Amino acid sequence: MKTAELHSLFLTCRSACTDTRTIQTDDIFFALKGDNFNGNTYASKALEAGAKFAVIDEASAHTSQHTILVENVLQTLQELASFHRNYLGIPIVALTGSNGKTTTKELINAVLSQKYSTTATKGNLNNHIGVPLTLLSMNKTTEIGIVEMGANHLKEIAFSCHIAKPDYGYITNFGKAHLEGFGGVERVIKGKSEMYQYLTNHGKTIFVNAHDPIQIEKTKQAKIYTFGKSDHKVDVGVNYIDAQPFVSCAYHNYAIQSHLIGDYNFNNIAAAITIGHYFKVDDSAIKTAIESYIPTNNRSQIITKASHKIILDAYNANPTSMRAALLNLEKQEGTKIAILGDMFELGKDAHKEHTEIVKLATALEIDKIYFIGENFNNVQEYSEKLTLYPSFEAFQAKNPNLDFLNATILIKGSRGMALERVLDLF
Ligand code: ATP
Ligand code: MG
Repeated sequence: MKTAELHSLFLTCRSACTDTRTIQTDDIFFALKGDNFNGNTYASKALEAGAKFAVIDEASAHTSQHTILVENVLQTLQELASFHRNYLGIPIVALTGSNGKTTTKELINAVLSQKYSTTATKGNLNNHIGVPLTLLSMNKTTEIGIVEMGANHLKEIAFSCHIAKPDYGYITNFGKAHLEGFGGVERVIKGKSEMYQYLTNHGKTIFVNAHDPIQIEKTKQAKIYTFGKSDHKVDVGVNYIDAQPFVSCAYHNYAIQSHLIGDYNFNNIAAAITIGHYFKVDDSAIKTAIESYIPTNNRSQIITKASHKIILDAYNANPTSMRAALLNLEKQEGTKIAILGDMFELGKDAHKEHTEIVKLATALEIDKIYFIGENFNNVQEYSEKLTLYPSFEAFQAKNPNLDFLNATILIKGSRGMALERVLDLF
């Protein structure tokens, strides 16, 4: 079936869906294959559950006039998404980076939705499947699309750009994340820069943090729209006020008080303000949007429990964000405790990066540090401040006394460590 023909059918459906458990009436089901599942085997179930069509790539699943047999379901999904994006013809803002993509995406969406009807990536659906699904979730009422793009390997961002054809782009930062897949920090920069390359080659606009030398260097040939301190030569001036503990900043005549902790969130907020400014959202509406955004899902959340202020950042971790979180903890008042879990996907750099974090954490003014996980356990550094546990279970079994007086406690580790479990120990 031609893409245009499939698109006509798609327009009669409610939404694209890849999971029979979440199917709703009149959805179009895409029977994707993974390492441990084959969507083709669920096609008839999808139709029974209310799907209008099921797109499949195995003849054995071709059981009714509502199954659409194609060569490759994933490729069909991607081509359809690209076709739909062209059909809508709306401006698309794309963002990538090592840390802070989802937070920045949510902030941009909060700001732009003050003036426009927007559709943004849901949660963290940012890969070669998530990007097409995001595009397919946009419709004729969408005025601006906001697409988060993630990558673990080279060429993935280039591919996502090829599908989404962004008109605007922003890269949050170039840090030490997914080192294993990329093969080193230089290649992380190269991989993320694929978005710059796409936007530059197509004469599109890039939002640039004027204080990030890599962003400036990599966008020399591009059409840029910059932000930074207001005394710099920038298109939009945003000034840092403080992060005690929430980040506040000044923009035009407004002081903006966010619900986000950590200095690192300043750039995320400044980028959202800048994009709002570019799209002519009123200053007061930008302020309202940033001030009403409250993070969820274990991302830099503040929780009060047993008289402690807990900074729950158990959503993910890599050397760059771990460093930023520790520096932020050091700035807090009173007793400071860190409970840190292993950082994953670092490949051959794992030992070195965990050692550096242990060195940094023990050198900072932090009263006590618990390290949980095999990687941290392999570190040979010694300090009386640190206590090592090979796993969460070992930590739990030791029944550590977490009964400090009015402490600020940072909990951070990679997703696989699920350190939010620590909350139950208070
Ligand atoms: P993922 O790769 O899982 O999609 P992400 O890039 O979308 O992650 P977020 O989910 O927004 O990132 O944030 C995850 C964590 O990264 C935050 O809780 C915080 O610890 C850290 N972080 C956020 N923004 C920055 C930043 N600009 N620089 C460094 N660390 C950051
Ligand atoms: Mg994300």
